Amino acid sequence: AKSQGRNNCQLFSPRMAELAEESLSLEHALRTAADRDEFILYYQPQIEMATRKLVGVEALIRWNSQQFGMVSPAKFIRIAEECGLILQMGDWVLREACRQRAEWNLAGVADFPIAVNVSALQFRQPEFIRRVEEALQIYGISTTQLELELTESIVMHESGATAAALRRLRDMGVALSIDDFGTGYSSLGYLKHLPIQKLKVDGAFVRGIESDKADRAIVEAIVSLGRALDLTLVAEGVEQRSTITVLSKLGCHVAQGYYYCRPLPAEEFVSWFSQFNG
Ligand code: C2E
Ligand code: CA
Ligand code: CA
Ligand code: CA
Repeated sequence: AKSQGRNNCQLFSPRMAELAEESLSLEHALRTAADRDEFILYYQPQIEMATRKLVGVEALIRWNSQQFGMVSPAKFIRIAEECGLILQMGDWVLREACRQRAEWNLAGVADFPIAVNVSALQFRQPEFIRRVEEALQIYGISTTQLELELTESIVMHESGATAAALRRLRDMGVALSIDDFGTGYSSLGYLKHLPIQKLKVDGAFVRGIESDKADRAIVEAIVSLGRALDLTLVAEGVEQRSTITVLSKLGCHVAQGYYYCRPLPAEEFVSWFSQFNG
């Protein structure tokens, strides 16, 4: 009955027209967002569970649109990818993260890396590596202070160019993680020969770890696979103390989520960190 309902769906409903219009005007506003300085990076800590030490932060883009208010990346990243804006946006994210790290270096903030999300389109640009090198150089930060979060769709792409780019980045000293691990492709063979250091277990599995047998089995399988391959396992979407207990028992190393801290603007993040430390 369900699939029948779907087949009966009207080709073009008023709701769809509304959505198409919304996405068009979002796209329009998105085109001027960079010039208007409407993007900002928020930072979310990654905590090693065994030591309660901060081992990194993930940079997450926010769009404070004059016209629409705060727009979620869940909404605008896809639009930016569809119209190609993601390239300039991704470059801005890379540079802004390096600029922030340099500022923290000057201020004596602890030497943890910043992890940046990379879109597949961005990664496939022939000049992507040069852009990474430029961002590091301009702000004079160490390659070990930058990490890249890649999707399975990036690393799964079986081309010599992809493997070479990943190796080059790794040789530079940039750590590479696979984001949302388990939600994308089913082939795992790439883990054997690509220079990946971390797997990020998707929050959708992590949040079900105590209530859903299947979610728990999936996390358990990812953790044991990752450990066998000497990878660092990062659980995202950790919202509760009890989840930390289960994840630690399973052998997961690092946790990220609202339980510790929501993504925060740089200054607020630093004051959270000084409290967490002290
Ligand atoms: P992601 O890379 O998987 O990032 C994790 C998302 O989970 C973030 O959503 C974060 O705010 C949210 N989150 C963190 N802890 C918790 C928790 O405990 N519970 C719940 N329910 N959620 C939690 P956000 O910031 O809205 O970003 C959504 C997605 O947009 C990201 O998913 C990423 O795919 C994309 N994105 C964000 N910033 C960038 C960027 O600079 N470049 C690119 N290419 N994509 C980005
Ligand atoms: Ca991510
Ligand atoms: Ca993720
Ligand atoms: Ca995710």
